[in-house]
Amino acid sequence: MKIPFNKPYMTGKELFYIAEAHFNGMLAGDGPFTKKCHTWLEKETGTQKALLTHSCTAALEMAAILADIQPGDEVIMPSYTFVSTANAFVLRGGVPVFVDIRPDTLNIDESKIEAAITPKTKAIVPVHYAGVGCEMDTIMEIAKRHNLLVIEDAAQGVFAKYKGKTLGTIGHLGAYSFHETKNVISGEGGALLINDARFIERAEMIREKGTNRSQFFRGLVDKYTWVDVGSSYLPGEVIAAFLWAQLEDAGNITQRRLNIWEHYHRGLHALERQGVLARPITPSHCQHNAHMYYILLNSLDARTKLIAQMRKQEIYPVFHYVPLHSSPAGKKYGRAHGEMTHTNDLSDRLLRLPMWTGLEPQMEQVLSVVFDHVDSKVVPISKGRS
Ligand SMILES: *Cc1c(COP(=O)(O)O)cnc(C)c1O
Repeated sequence: MKIPFNKPYMTGKELFYIAEAHFNGMLAGDGPFTKKCHTWLEKETGTQKALLTHSCTAALEMAAILADIQPGDEVIMPSYTFVSTANAFVLRGGVPVFVDIRPDTLNIDESKIEAAITPKTKAIVPVHYAGVGCEMDTIMEIAKRHNLLVIEDAAQGVFAKYKGKTLGTIGHLGAYSFHETKNVISGEGGALLINDARFIERAEMIREKGTNRSQFFRGLVDKYTWVDVGSSYLPGEVIAAFLWAQLEDAGNITQRRLNIWEHYHRGLHALERQGVLARPITPSHCQHNAHMYYILLNSLDARTKLIAQMRKQEIYPVFHYVPLHSSPAGKKYGRAHGEMTHTNDLSDRLLRLPMWTGLEPQMEQVLSVVFDHVDSKVVPISKGRS
């Protein structure tokens, strides 16, 4: 049976809540379901203010406006990330400054951030790869000393933790994704988490086309008018209704993903010991959310061969990213600071195994195909000689 890379999980209540939104007769943004999602996110994550957006990309764009990025301002981030991390700042004329990743977690190497700071640096954007937290204590300390903002790209880190704190709530601002390929979904969707109260009022205006609509509805101002730059960053109620079903079930979704993750991890231990692949590393102070399970093969060639073999069996693993510093737009709009050794090396060797809630009956099949076809670079001597 075909095993796709991702299959969106439905809790069963999505259509019920969508029907309720339909019945409520309020379909634009910020209706009852949006408010429920906001309250839930604030309570569960501990952020001061959560605002639903139509994507994590939108939340990052809002963060770039809130950070007051001006043409030429620099923003430090990993090169090993999704394009939206950089695009949001480039849209404001900002310059992404790419720093290499750590070989263990594949997160930005915090020890290389300080050397990349210039008088033009405005913000640091750590990306919590695979839902494993970046070294936030060090990053926050550097930001404080240099008076920089920290915007967490927590697209993959929804409900994961670093030293007991939920990812996305540690920096000044955090961005979540509810895209269909993430853990908790609404098709397209996201949220901006505001952890520094001075950004709340402006964030509400930016999200509502630069108007004071939120204040107007609260009776704080008597005229609803254009007061700032902004765009339409809020989702409609049908999306929020869908998301509400998922948030209610978030604990269960995360737990089921963690079980699959653990099964893969235990199952691949033997191959790691043989030296034919490496498994993910999670520092003990990080609690991940099983957003993905990846393996690191010994070479690009070994990866290419394994993918071909898996596809033959109708199993569809994927890899990413083309490092941003080597992409056409990354070269045009950004620059690399220092060597990109680990970024270049690991992006060639990483492979993501199928990971979705409901995969349980087929996870053994994925493992057995990896066992049968992984390129055993470490050939036992007797076998190699015969
Ligand atoms: C998925 C993802 C995004 C974009 O999320 P959307 O909700 O699709 O806009 C941004 N950054 C990272 C690291 C991601 O994985």
